Amino acid sequence: MRVFKFGGASVKDAAGIKNVYDVLQKVGYEDVLLVVSAMGKTTNALEDVIKNYFEKSEELNASVQEVKKYHNQILLDLFEDEKNEVFAAANTLFSELEYFLAHNKSPNYNFVYDQIVSYGELISTTILSHFMSYMGIKTQWLDVRNFVKTNSNYRDAEVDWELTQKNIAKNVKKKMLNITQGFLGSDENNFTTTLGREGSDYTAGIFAYCLNAESVTIWKDVPGVMNADPRYFENASLLSHISYREAIEMAFYGATVIHPKTLQPLQKKEIPLYVKSFINPMLPGTCVSKGSDSEWQIPSFIVKRNQLLISLSSIDFSFIMEENISEIFALFHQFKLKVNLIQNSAISFSVCVEDKFENFKDLNPILSKKFKVDFNENVTLYTIRHFNDKAAQTVEQNKTVLLKQVSRETMQVVTKES
Ligand code: ADP
Ligand code: ASP
Ligand code: MG
Repeated sequence: MRVFKFGGASVKDAAGIKNVYDVLQKVGYEDVLLVVSAMGKTTNALEDVIKNYFEKSEELNASVQEVKKYHNQILLDLFEDEKNEVFAAANTLFSELEYFLAHNKSPNYNFVYDQIVSYGELISTTILSHFMSYMGIKTQWLDVRNFVKTNSNYRDAEVDWELTQKNIAKNVKKKMLNITQGFLGSDENNFTTTLGREGSDYTAGIFAYCLNAESVTIWKDVPGVMNADPRYFENASLLSHISYREAIEMAFYGATVIHPKTLQPLQKKEIPLYVKSFINPMLPGTCVSKGSDSEWQIPSFIVKRNQLLISLSSIDFSFIMEENISEIFALFHQFKLKVNLIQNSAISFSVCVEDKFENFKDLNPILSKKFKVDFNENVTLYTIRHFNDKAAQTVEQNKTVLLKQVSRETMQVVTKES
C-alpha cells in the first residue's frame, strides 16, 4: 500500500480538489490511503471560533458562519446538484459543531480546542471522498479516531502505538482508495485529540508504519525539500535525495516542509518518503531514504521566526551546574516551552525557545526567584546545515547577532532585525 498526504494548500478550493483527482489519475489510486488536512486556512479559522467561544464574543456566530460559507462555496463549485448527499453530510458535521458550542460544559481550553478544530479535517475528508466517488473512484472514508489512539494530552497528544497498530491492521481495506483525516486521534474515552499543529504529515507516517507501506508521498506546493524555504530565499534549490538523518535534522531545526515527528516511524521500517509537487506530480521531487545525501555539501538554511532568547545568570555568582540546568529544563518542559538552542558559561545560561502557548509570562517570575533573567522577544533563529563563510554572511548581514553557535555540521545564529 502507498500512503499519500494532501495538506491544506492542496485542497484550498474546488480547483485544488479537482487537482487531487488529476494527481490520482496520473499516479494511481488502487491500494492507496489518502491522509488529508483541513482545507486552506480552516484550522486558523476554527482557532478564531475557539477564541470567540472562550471570550464569549459577539463574533462567535459570524466566525462559525464564515467557516460554513467557505466550505459551502467549495461544495457548490464541485457538485452541480444540491441534492447530492454530500450537502447533507457536511451539514450534519456543522450541526454537530454548533451543538457542541451550545452545550459544552468543559472549561478545559485544550480539550475544547481539539473537539472544535477537528471539524476542519472531518469536513475536508467528507467533501473529498464524496467527490472521488462522484468521479467514479471507489472510495472508503475512514474516521481516523477509530484508528489513531492517543493519551489525553489535548493539542499535543502522544500516540499509543500498540492500540493504533492493532486498529489499523484490522480495518484498513486494501485494493481501494481509503481516505482519512490527518492530525486527529482519540483518547481512551473516545474524545477527539490532536497531534499538534501541522500534524497531518505525522499521521501519514503513523499509517505507513502500521501498514508496512511501500512508501509515503507528501504532496506540497513546492518541488520537494529544498536547501531553503523558497518563500524567503530566492535561489533555493531542490535536494533530490536526502537521508533520514538529514531530513530529521532539517525538520527538527524548523524546515516546515516536513513535520518533525513524521520521519522516525518511517526510518524504523526504512519506508521511503517522497516529497513532491501537487502542481507537477510527474516530477521526481525529493526522496528521503536510507543512504547518503546526494547534495549534502550544499548549505541548507532554516529560519524560525518569533523566537524568545532567554538568558539566566546566577544572582550570587555561583556556577550554573547540572542540578540547576536540570531544574531549568524541567520548568521549560512543564511550561511547554520548546528549546531550540542552548548555550552556557560558568555563571550564565542562554536558550532560544519557542513559546507557542504564551507561557513565559508565568514562568518568568518563577525563574526570577533564583536567577537574573534577561530576554529578547521576537528574535529569529537561523540554522545553517553544512555551513560555509558565504552562507554565514548571508544570514548575518544587516542584522544584529545576539548569539552564535557553531558545531561540526551546523551553525545557529540568533538575530534581531536591525
Ligand atoms: P501543507 O500544505 O502540507 O501543510 P506546508 O505549507 O506545511 O504544506 O509546507 C510547505 C511549505 O513549506 C512550502 O510552501 C514552503 O514555503 C515551506 N518550506 C519550509 N522549508 C522548506 C524547504 N526546506 N523546502 C521546501 N519548502 C519549505
Ligand atoms: N490542519 C492542521 C493544521 O493546520 C493539521 C495539518 O494541516 O497538518 O495545523
Ligand atoms: Mg501545513
